[in-house]
Amino acid sequence: MHIVTEVLETVSKRNPNEPEFLQAVQEILNSLTPLLEQNKEYQDKCILQRFVEPERQIIFRVPWQDDRGQIQINRGYRFEFNSAIGPYKGGLRFHPSVCPSILKFLALEQVLKNSLTTLPMGGGKGGADFDPKGKSDNEVMRFCQSFMTELFRHIGPYTDVPAGDIGVGTREIGYLFGQYKRLRNEFTGVLTGKGRNWGGSLIRPEATGYGTVYFAQEMLKTRGDSLAGKICTVSGSGNVAQYTVQKLQQLGAKVVTLSDSDGTIYDAQGINAEKLDFVMTLKNVRRGRLKEYTDMFNAEYRAGKRPWDVPCDCAFPCATQNEISGENAKQLLDGGCKLVCEGANMPSQPKAVELFLAKGILFGPGKAANAGGVAVSGLEMAQNAIHLNWTREEVEQRLHGIMISIHRNCCETAERYDQAGNLVLGANIAGFSKVADAMLDQGLV
Ligand code: NDP
Repeated sequence: MHIVTEVLETVSKRNPNEPEFLQAVQEILNSLTPLLEQNKEYQDKCILQRFVEPERQIIFRVPWQDDRGQIQINRGYRFEFNSAIGPYKGGLRFHPSVCPSILKFLALEQVLKNSLTTLPMGGGKGGADFDPKGKSDNEVMRFCQSFMTELFRHIGPYTDVPAGDIGVGTREIGYLFGQYKRLRNEFTGVLTGKGRNWGGSLIRPEATGYGTVYFAQEMLKTRGDSLAGKICTVSGSGNVAQYTVQKLQQLGAKVVTLSDSDGTIYDAQGINAEKLDFVMTLKNVRRGRLKEYTDMFNAEYRAGKRPWDVPCDCAFPCATQNEISGENAKQLLDGGCKLVCEGANMPSQPKAVELFLAKGILFGPGKAANAGGVAVSGLEMAQNAIHLNWTREEVEQRLHGIMISIHRNCCETAERYDQAGNLVLGANIAGFSKVADAMLDQGLV
């Protein structure tokens, strides 16, 4: 039996009821076949079998009290997946859907993504099935304090450095950092995405969205094209979506959609800087619903819908996993879409990826395209370690350079394996090789 088939069978047996994790493993392993055929040592040393098994899995109870005095119990997690090239690094997600399957797929993707950034970071992911939506600041603070009261013993600036993800922004990172500092009596760079005045890096909030757009720009350049004048659809309206829209505006594109878990807004005139400001205040300060956009501006609200049936040149999924089905991919292609660049993690279902690759449109997989966020987290760790802050220009320039080099690495790797333009294969092989070689060097651990 082929090594990939054998490992996939074992992973499926060992991790039943984990569809998202199996989806990610399958996508990655299928791309690695040509590499494995050339490297017998990976097979001899069971690198693949070790690669798909998290180094450590931590699951814990998070008890807290709501504003009515009622006791609530959530479940907290940290999956420390691979530390071959650096301390575990990856976000925390607070969302009711959080479970081992979702966190393990995110952690595995993170291992390859972090490897691609060129920075020394291993991969992990964590979070809780806690829903910050509708909770008061005090409730979120009590939850974060209880969560960190367990997590603190497992993390540290040289061990595991969490960051934000869905439902975890600067407010949550603040409460988590405060509690860590109190428990350890140490002011260290144990979390990234910190506030500007207490160890955060300039450009970290913007990094994932900006990086995604820089990646799209590089993809378009390979066809002698640019973002200027392009009609773009964006999903989500959180951190990644907001700064994707901002950079697209700066580069002369016209963004016509945003969404949240209730529906999509379609603004045919384009979402300009003033309208984006409104969205940022609405989502980040007032924590309201996107539907309110239509009370202020002339736009269509599509309840319960995603943006993919809106005709566009370029699509930027920036909400969540599996948000583009095979059917949605057809709608995108029928609507003239020539580029899909993933700001979110694994937003395209396997059928959709298959269609994009078969049609030869530009397709930027999340682990490469959205790596700007963790790259600037790595730069935040570097600034914390040398006790200095770099300027906005310096950080953005480094981010831009990293995105260009990730794109180049993915393209060159795909070409080397006779799959020019297949950035899924390029990202998986380039990310994996570095981790696999480090695992070989470090022996059987
Ligand atoms: P936020 O919490 O800031 O925003 C998430 C957005 O997605 C919200 O608009 C939310 O809508 C929407 N959303 C969440 N879940 C669903 C769902 N099940 N169906 C439809 N819409 C949904 O998160 P981020 O912007 O930080 O993260 C977005 C994506 O980007 C995720 O896939 C994340 O893993 C990925 N990512 C994030 C990075 C970062 O630096 N933050 C780095 C790399 C990747 P609502 O408000 O209704 O919940």
